[in-house]
Amino acid sequence: MPTLFVGISELVQPHADEGNSKEPIDVITDAALLVDGGTVLAAGERVAVEKNPRAVHASVIDFDGRAVVPGLVDSHTHVVFAGERIDEFSRRARGETYEEIARAGGGILRSIEPLRVASVDDLVLQSLPRLKKMLAHGTTTVEVKSGYGMAPELELKQLRAAKALAAMTPASIFGTALAHVVPPGCTNRRQYINEFCHQVIAQAARQKLASYCDVFVEDIAFSLAETRIFANAAREHGLGLKLHVDQLTDHGGAALAAELGALSADHLEMTREPGRMLLAKAHVVATILPGCALFLGKDPWPNGRALRDSGCEVAVATDCNPGSSMLVDLCSCAAMAATRCGLSLEEALWATTRGGAKALGLNDRGRLVQGERADFVVVDHHDWRALFYNLGDGPVHGTYIAGTASSLKSPSTCP
Ligand SMILES: [Zn+2]
Repeated sequence: MPTLFVGISELVQPHADEGNSKEPIDVITDAALLVDGGTVLAAGERVAVEKNPRAVHASVIDFDGRAVVPGLVDSHTHVVFAGERIDEFSRRARGETYEEIARAGGGILRSIEPLRVASVDDLVLQSLPRLKKMLAHGTTTVEVKSGYGMAPELELKQLRAAKALAAMTPASIFGTALAHVVPPGCTNRRQYINEFCHQVIAQAARQKLASYCDVFVEDIAFSLAETRIFANAAREHGLGLKLHVDQLTDHGGAALAAELGALSADHLEMTREPGRMLLAKAHVVATILPGCALFLGKDPWPNGRALRDSGCEVAVATDCNPGSSMLVDLCSCAAMAATRCGLSLEEALWATTRGGAKALGLNDRGRLVQGERADFVVVDHHDWRALFYNLGDGPVHGTYIAGTASSLKSPSTCP
């Protein structure tokens, strides 16, 4: 039986393909939402939705004057990991840089050993609380990368944990095989790259552990030429391509993402022209990760404004990871995208809903229109902007995934 959600003060409707227009969302007041079988039957003004013939026998849920936005899509995370790196956070606070700590054996390499000794069950146990918190903050779709294994079997273990988590939470979880850096002590880069292509990308695709392949394109990680090898393997095995580019240097990573037709180019702290224009022209979603600059205490912040002004569609994600962005709350990242990266709140909302979905090549979510997934967030406020305004404590009354409430707080009085 369909469900009719009424009492919606504002229903936020991101535009499908106008992420770089001045007004990327519509806000419909006094709205309703009709849902059946996990998908949207109708959404819009209450008077119009109530006229839908399927609304007549629907069960009714009244949100009592609260706003509704589409479920948030976190399109870039490393949320499945083992251990912590609190000491590195402390050392940075005393003045050491991320690079100095990495050179002394910290950084990404510090996450290898805890992953190696952890079982899939351990990884699930450590990662599940983080995913639950994401959900409580309104995230309904999460991309999860490997990249802390640096050996084929360990990379696959990380992806198996992500798949196990997908079966345990109502959120949609999509795996990504990430070529992060070459393992310590590796003397034959080409051999490692071949191994990764044949034993991680190919296996992850075959075993349906991953939908995407990602490469850290940077002087300290993989070159442009090496990235092309990974991209070919990804294409051959039907995985979508996403790239970490221009985080530390602008050395052509954005241009490469455009040339390879990646779904998204992520980070972009250092990207200048013509990189931004090339991304826009190739319809590569520009994904910014403001949590990194905050957590590392390091300039520059990604320039979301310049990316949009160059014509890019911009997405915002958490980059949740133990070293450079220990952050599960996408709403806070949206707020930072507004205060530090030049986006309006409307643009930040687009960036965390439809923008995130586009960064994952998903056309069934990120909006609330007929035939798409009924993933949505009920804001415990009549004004949807309260979600970003209350920094670190976005008032989420409920997160609905495929039309079902998955984390309802106790009822409270709506202001
Ligand atoms: Zn990342």
